[in-house]
Order: sequence, then C-alpha cells, then structure tokens
Amino acid sequence: MSDPISAPDLEKLARPEILALQPYASARALAGTAGILLNANESPWPPAGDPGLALNRYPDPQPAALKQRLAELYGTGADNLLLTRGSDEGIDLLLRVFCRAGVDRVLICPPCFGMYALSATVQGASIIEAPLVDRGHFFELAPDFEQRARGCRISFLCSPNNPTGNIIAHETVASLARSQIDLGLVVVDEAYVEFAPETSMMDLLAEHPNLVLLRTLSKAHALAGCRLGCVIAHPSIIGLLRRIIAPYPLPTPTVAIAMQALEPEALAVEREHLQTLATERARLAEALDRHAGIERVWSGAANFVLVRAADGPQLVADAAAAGIRLRDQSAQPGLADCVRITVGAPAENDALIEFMQRWSP
Ligand SMILES: *Cc1c(COP(=O)(O)O)cnc(C)c1O
Repeated sequence: MSDPISAPDLEKLARPEILALQPYASARALAGTAGILLNANESPWPPAGDPGLALNRYPDPQPAALKQRLAELYGTGADNLLLTRGSDEGIDLLLRVFCRAGVDRVLICPPCFGMYALSATVQGASIIEAPLVDRGHFFELAPDFEQRARGCRISFLCSPNNPTGNIIAHETVASLARSQIDLGLVVVDEAYVEFAPETSMMDLLAEHPNLVLLRTLSKAHALAGCRLGCVIAHPSIIGLLRRIIAPYPLPTPTVAIAMQALEPEALAVEREHLQTLATERARLAEALDRHAGIERVWSGAANFVLVRAADGPQLVADAAAAGIRLRDQSAQPGLADCVRITVGAPAENDALIEFMQRWSP
C-alpha cells in the first residue's frame, strides 16, 4: 500500500488538545483478563441471571473477535476499525477530535442525516452547506460542492444517502479526498451500503488516508437495538479517536449478540432478507408512482423510498391515524411535502398500499 500521507500529517488535522492529552488507561486495556483480577474494583461474583457472560467484569474495550469478524466482512484490516455505540458515536468522536470550536468548518450536503449538523453544532464547528440538486428522479451533489468543501475539516457524504437514496460515484469521493489531502477528512457514511454493496468506497481507503467510512449494524444487519457501529480509517485516525472514546463503550451482551448475528448462517438469512427488501421496494415504488396524491417517487438504493405527496404532513398524519408510522421530511431543504417510507416486511407493505388506496389529500 502506497501511503501518500504519513501519520504525523493526519495528526496535524487533529485538535492540539487531543494530541496533548494523556488518554485514560483503563484496567482492562492495561492488563487484559488473564489471572486473578483485583485491578478494576469489580465484584468477584456474577450477578443473578448472568447468562454465562461474566457480566460482573468490565468488557473488552475493543473486542478482538468481533473486530476480526467485521474486518473480514468489510474487507479491511482490524487496525483500520474502531467499534462504536452506533455510527452516531463515530460521527461525534470525529467532530470532537478534529474540529476546534469556533474555528473549524464541516461540510454537509442536505437533505441528509441530521446527526452531522447536530454533532457539529454541539462541538461549536460551523456548517457549510452544499445542497443536493434535484434532477427529477434522482438527487446529485451540487456542481460546486468540492469548492465549498475546500478547507472544511470534515466533509460528510452519505451513500446511499438518507433520505434521498442517491449514490455517490467513486471518482467524486476520490477527487474530493485528493483535493482535501492536507486540509481535512472526507467521511462517507455507508449506513445503507449493504443494500448496494458494489457501491462501497472501501477500495479507495488504501489510496486515500484522509478518507473515513462509517458502517453500522443497525440497518441491513438488523441490530439497531444493539447500538454497534464502526469507523473505518487509516490506523492513525483510529488511534486519535481511541484517545477520547469512553473506556468501555461496548456492553458485553451487545458484543455476544453481534457475534451470533454475524455467523455465516445468519448472514445467509440476511441475504434473503435483502433480496426481499429490494423486490418490495420496487413493488412499493410502483404502487406509489401510480397514486394520484403522490407527485414523485425516489426509490433510491436503500431500504426506503422517498415520495413527494400533494400534502406530505397530511399523509404522515393520516397514516398515523391508520396505525402506520411514516417519516415527515418536509423540514429538510428541497423536500417540501416529502415523506420517507421504510420498506417493511411484505405484509406491512401490503398494509401501506391498502391504506394508500383509500388515501386522498
Ligand atoms: C441509520 C443511520 C445511521 C446509523 O446510526 P446508528 O447510530 O449506527 O444506529 C448512520 N447514518 C445514517 C445516514 C443513517 O441513516
């Protein structure tokens, strides 16, 4: 792997306070779990109801077996991974390590996931917007988005994007990463990439050390309740994030359940589910497209479709009254009257289609 940027160069992008601090060294990180454990003020006895997980003990800060499993699944090295409490935590760590309050800027391309702007605001970073352009049946990055990203400490892209479902081209990400090489990180949120695996930016990682990918087990892997995400990046970026992550971010039961959900048999079931969701997405999109009260359908590449209704908030309210929860997107720039509809199980989609047959704005 050619490495056009060295670890010290990446470290120059981090906040000086983060580079200067002495990271907290937890008992587990210092000494592991071999021998008689009198170093962490734990109870020597497991709690009542412990399902054999030794819940009286603090967990491994970065469980090696799960990391190895995910590294194989993602096609990268274990030292390129940081396991986090959902990718929400990854977003927050990136902001806190790389953005100086009142000084640094981050780029977002709305309509997009709300956590980038929220974490930026909490950290005191200012937000530069490069809104997506609506090209009819798909959304695209603005022609000048790379200029707007210039000098931003972090540029957040998402592919497939939530809530528009559009995909970003490899060359677009590669070009942005090149132009930002000494200036900032390019983060591509791949929360939905399992629905379009051929579009992953993973193969760009080795060439572009300032590229960071976010993955989550919350969507295709069906583990939203587990809270597990993953930052994938150059090991020096991972090292910087580890300086400030909580000492024990991952609960033992979460890790045990995730290991089971990533067994080959479980992944085979998941592949069937992904197939079903793709078929169902097409079926939903077609039914919505024919509806007189729906003006536009963006079916996208993920497990949801976005629609523009004659009256979006009314659609959300009427569906709720019928017991179906949809997500109003009308507050997002460019998405007046838009509603995001998650693709459910076939019977759930039947219920939505049936509701729509009765619905008129
Ligand atoms: C759902 C989602 C996530 C996942 O968040 P978790 O904290 O991992 O559950 C991240 N990014 C986007 C764009 C999402 O839609």
